[in-house]
Amino acid sequence: MPLIVQKYGGTSVADADRIRDVAKRVVDTFRAGNEVVVVVSAMGRTTDDLIDLAKRVADRDHPREMDMLLTAGERVSMALCAMAIEDRGVPAMSLTGSQAGILTTATHGQAEIVEISGDRVRAGLDSGKVVIVAGFQGVSPDSRDVTTLGRGGSDATAAALAAVLGADVCEIYTDVDGVFTADPRIVPDARKIDEISYQEMLEMSVAGSGVLMGRSVEFGRRYNIPIHVRSSFTTDMGTWVKEETMEEAIIRGIAHDTSEAKVTVHGVPDKPGVAATLFEPLARAGVNVDMIVQNVSRDGITDISFTVPKSSIASALDVAGSVSTDVGAGGVDVDEDIAKVSLVGAGMKSESGIAAKMFRILSDHGINIEMISTSPIRISCIVAGGDIEKAVRSLHDGFQTAMAPASEGDG
Ligand code: ASP
Ligand code: MG
Repeated sequence: MPLIVQKYGGTSVADADRIRDVAKRVVDTFRAGNEVVVVVSAMGRTTDDLIDLAKRVADRDHPREMDMLLTAGERVSMALCAMAIEDRGVPAMSLTGSQAGILTTATHGQAEIVEISGDRVRAGLDSGKVVIVAGFQGVSPDSRDVTTLGRGGSDATAAALAAVLGADVCEIYTDVDGVFTADPRIVPDARKIDEISYQEMLEMSVAGSGVLMGRSVEFGRRYNIPIHVRSSFTTDMGTWVKEETMEEAIIRGIAHDTSEAKVTVHGVPDKPGVAATLFEPLARAGVNVDMIVQNVSRDGITDISFTVPKSSIASALDVAGSVSTDVGAGGVDVDEDIAKVSLVGAGMKSESGIAAKMFRILSDHGINIEMISTSPIRISCIVAGGDIEKAVRSLHDGFQTAMAPASEGDG
């Protein structure tokens, strides 16, 4: 019997009516002759609300208790979903991440899945039930504590379960129709992408396209499970993320990200070991550095700039400040008003002039580029925060034909 893993995001289970809709879809899928595993997020904005609540009772971070708190959100939706499904006459059973055997590292708030035993999920399916698993959570065998997988982590739960169970497809239900060539809120004529490769989707996710958590794409790729990102409000096809795509677009899409800040250490002595002296303690402090630029050296000194998530500014400044003092640099400053725009497409590997065209388009629109980074299938530029919408729009315009799917007759 085919096995389908369906993940429903927060908006898809936002209230009682939406949960009934989810139950209907699950029951239809089950009655069509499939085994069904359902992964749910917390209802609506529950996770954000719980975080706010925690901030109101405590000033300091309490990572273990925070995970205890946040995992409650998914527990509410899994139980309600199970009830709504059983009410429709299909046996169902909910499991917490820990009951489902999702074993993780011990890092609270950012745990990695290391193993899924999945026996109870399998046993539930074998007894003819729909099994509902709480997303975003697991348990660490070392600390024996409940952990969370990071924001958006239910996608990773779903893809990892799909992988260990050998599912035929992992469906990610969300409030948009799929993955778009750019954020439709900024580019009204952005187009839904029908198919995208794992590699391209991974780059899109890392570059800030919020539709799928990057780690879920890695699971999909490693175990070759097709991921179907689609709307829970319609029955339309969404976006298929898989190994091979039918059409090779030069540019698959444009992603942008406003969640990072730029930190600059001024007047750093330009000699071996200084970069390591700075980035080693940043790594130890768990600061996730994205782009790094070292400026031209003049009179033996240089500036080093790097970007970090805005949520890590405090720890980044802490570390950079003391390193700056230690190596006799000129001080540190931070610019929060930046944003990153990225072009992604496997076709750019075999096409020259893409970067040049990107830079020309940005300059034609008076947009200054502060930093650049590339991978074989991505080009990213840091621009001023206020320029990001213009950047996304003008690049979407300029690369319109490079993103167009080959029309039927083009063969
Ligand atoms: N509820 C968690 C969050 O809001 C996990 C998820 O939705 O995937 O980040
Ligand atoms: Mg989510």
